[in-house]
Amino acid sequence: AASTAPDRLALVEIAPPGAALSGADRTDRTWTYAELLDDAEQAASWLAARFAPGEHIAVWAPNIPEWVILQYGAALAGLVLVTVNPALRDAELEHVLSQSGAVGLLLTDSFRETDMAAAVERIGPRLPRLRERVSFTGWLTEVRGTAPSPLPRIDPGAAAQIQYTSGTTGTPKGAVLHHRGLVSNATFVAARAGFSRDGVWGSALPLFHTAGCDLTVLGVATATGTLVLVQVFQPTLVLEALQKWRATFFAGVPAMLTALLNHPTFDSYDLSACATVLSGGDRVPPELVEETERRFDARFSTLYGQTELSPSVTQTGPDDSTQDKLHTAGRPLWQVEVKITGPAGADPLPVGEPGEICARGYQVMLGYHDLPEATAQTIDRDGWLHTGDLGVMDYRGYVTVTGRLKDMIIRGGENIYPAEIEAALGTHPRVRQAAVLGLPDPAWGEQVAAVINATDPDDPPTAAELHDHLRAALAPHKTPRHWYLADTIPANAMGKIQKFLLRRQICDGRLKPLP
Ligand code: ATP
Repeated sequence: AASTAPDRLALVEIAPPGAALSGADRTDRTWTYAELLDDAEQAASWLAARFAPGEHIAVWAPNIPEWVILQYGAALAGLVLVTVNPALRDAELEHVLSQSGAVGLLLTDSFRETDMAAAVERIGPRLPRLRERVSFTGWLTEVRGTAPSPLPRIDPGAAAQIQYTSGTTGTPKGAVLHHRGLVSNATFVAARAGFSRDGVWGSALPLFHTAGCDLTVLGVATATGTLVLVQVFQPTLVLEALQKWRATFFAGVPAMLTALLNHPTFDSYDLSACATVLSGGDRVPPELVEETERRFDARFSTLYGQTELSPSVTQTGPDDSTQDKLHTAGRPLWQVEVKITGPAGADPLPVGEPGEICARGYQVMLGYHDLPEATAQTIDRDGWLHTGDLGVMDYRGYVTVTGRLKDMIIRGGENIYPAEIEAALGTHPRVRQAAVLGLPDPAWGEQVAAVINATDPDDPPTAAELHDHLRAALAPHKTPRHWYLADTIPANAMGKIQKFLLRRQICDGRLKPLP
């Protein structure tokens, strides 16, 4: 991009008004492709003076341009970047830094209520391998004064990043991803979504997640587009940025889209430049696709993938039929093979039969860092990655994701998929959000439980009312036997419900039963 369009705007920083982030020098900065390449090469030299190729360095910050510069610099210097969620607490941070084997850490001094510098001080003595800790404050100035050093040749198949999974189902695992997988996947996703050359891509997807760090940062560059990088997800900050920079493209997880559409001032923004909205990473309800297309006046593209797959596997294109856009996660991306298998493993099931989604191709992770058993359980001898997701594929190759194996409830030998029940509960007008999970039961093995977040917490629906609502749509054995009310449903930074936390709250008696 820098050689074909050096003067094209590559990166725009969007920070909350008046909130100069501790650690960054200024806010609302911009870079052309030539400037970004210069900074990235200088950063590579700065890194090469401190770290040897192949070493792991971690980054702990919200979405700031320094991250993007470090990301490119690390790639050029042959280092493996470990991306860390800025919301982590001491114990989680310690786990990621020690498990990843990071020898260096670059961080902002603070973010939101977290004094990050103090957190690293506290856990530092327990991390003997971490030999360099560098604040982003003043870092760019220092980088720009660095003398060039020779950079290594990079094997495209070499590790580029360790991306920790979201931890939706438990402790995050570090997926080791390589250059070829990341760059190719981002290229194919941007192309399938119709992100046009010279387009403007607005995103608040967190950079610690592969959807932000790779799909977004690299997807924009493969089309020589402009990345409007929003520091943190705040609806008005995002909407103002999309309007001001006339973004042609917006990417966000379903929870972000819902928050934007529900924001009282949504309709007052001029989003007429926005032609495409890309979403995924979690179930995308058909109503959300419809409402987004209508209110953004844009075309929708749904993505299905997971960190271990760099991350995208299937995607709908803006030109797919309405039915496909509403009810499927699209077709496999270029150069990805997808099959649906039964419990016995290898052989694909007949078309239309539900089973586990498996994928194979250039973008499969190298493995989980330092977890050989988990890796062997996930990637089989023929190179198929078993996603742990359930789905069906039609005769044209369109895939519908129906749930997660880890989420599946087995009640008296029958398999029950929470996603189906959650979708049905979500259509009740007095339910804002629902989470369905299995609880141990002496008679049935497991019994279905639902946790409800009501639209009006002072007047929640009754269990009987929800029961009747579901009985009209679902077989009786799927109707929850236990109902709980929650003021908030715990979700991770990608907006995904953390059922292991809900289960703990139920067991500790912290959730009220629904009347
Ligand atoms: P962990 O593995 O630590 O529990 P995680 O799997 O949530 O975390 P990610 O890699 O961020 O970590 O998420 C990938 C998962 O998100 C997929 O395996 C799938 O379950 C879900 N997902 C992604 N896209 C979609 C989609 N379009 N529809 C339904 N579910 C999706």
